[in-house]
Amino acid sequence: MTTAVAAPFRFFALRVARTRRLGPSLVRVTFAGPDLRAFHSHGRDQSLSLFLPHPGQDAPAVPVELGDNWWQGWRELPDDVRAVMRSYTLRALRRDPDEIDIDFALHGTGPGAAVPAGPASRWAAGARAGDRVVLLGPAVEDNRAIRFRPPADTDLVVLWGDETAVPAASAILESLPAGLRVRAWLEVHHPGDIQDLATAADAEITWLVRDERSGAGPAGAPLALDALRAAELPPAEAPYAWIAGESGCVRELRRHLVRERGLDRRRVAFVGYWRHGLSEEQLREAGE
Ligand SMILES: Cc1cc2nc3c(=O)[nH]c(=O)nc-3n(C[C@H](O)[C@H](O)[C@H](O)COP(=O)(O)OP(=O)(O)OC[C@H]3O[C@@H](n4cnc5c(N)ncnc54)[C@H](O)[C@@H]3O)c2cc1C
Repeated sequence: MTTAVAAPFRFFALRVARTRRLGPSLVRVTFAGPDLRAFHSHGRDQSLSLFLPHPGQDAPAVPVELGDNWWQGWRELPDDVRAVMRSYTLRALRRDPDEIDIDFALHGTGPGAAVPAGPASRWAAGARAGDRVVLLGPAVEDNRAIRFRPPADTDLVVLWGDETAVPAASAILESLPAGLRVRAWLEVHHPGDIQDLATAADAEITWLVRDERSGAGPAGAPLALDALRAAELPPAEAPYAWIAGESGCVRELRRHLVRERGLDRRRVAFVGYWRHGLSEEQLREAGE
């Protein structure tokens, strides 16, 4: 007897259905397409690879016809043709009609921006209904691109995310059961980026606002680290922490939780979502 095993990931050809500004530096893009019938995910911090066209192209160039050899074929395309590949998080999946949402943190797109815009941020700022993208995403609900996995005995969840990880943290909060204690710190650029989050958990959510124009400085550990250091966590037998955002900041927060607070390092999930001064290609080349 042979057992059919579904491939965990596949390509999805999608179009933008609509966009909505959630705040001065956050835009929600809703994607639709018949391929989404085959998209399945347990959510939480489900990450996705998004392929975007260059300005002037009407569709991203991804050699999906090469199947498992797509990576090699994609790498061999000329730089100005090869689709831009970036990591994002599934914010929501809906059925009838099949749609997914991705929330993009915009950087470098406003007037007088302090940081350079990347191609994904620029694309999201100008996205219009009908725009075409390709997604490499999950075809099975439980897959390895979900990192938030608290052990069954978890009695306290500690979350930290910057603006790029607010979508993941929001989806995580929505997934948590009633009664579970959660302490969350979410860091954004502007007060207008603060959102109302839904959760059944016993969650205390603290928003940290890093308004660069006010001189509070760029993303970095001090704001988050000061907040976590000053926090009194409720007593817990089996805490679990999830931290995601700028890599340097993630590293310092992890160190704080493990070394200063004594959390078991196996119960601290941490993911660098971006790094100051490096594009996602440069991070991939550096093996991070
Ligand atoms: C698993 C995973 C999930 C992610 N989920 C999301 C998500 O749901 N929403 C989201 O918005 N982002 C998410 N990110 C982060 C996103 O992939 C990066 O911010 C990415 O660099 C954006 O691509 P870009 O083309 O705009 O910029 P790049 O071309 O990659 O970088 C250009 C420049 O911008 C800088 N930069 C990148 N991000 C920021 C930022 N937020 N603020 C200031 N400078 C920045 C870089 O350091 C670089 O100097 C996720 C990343 C990972 C790894």
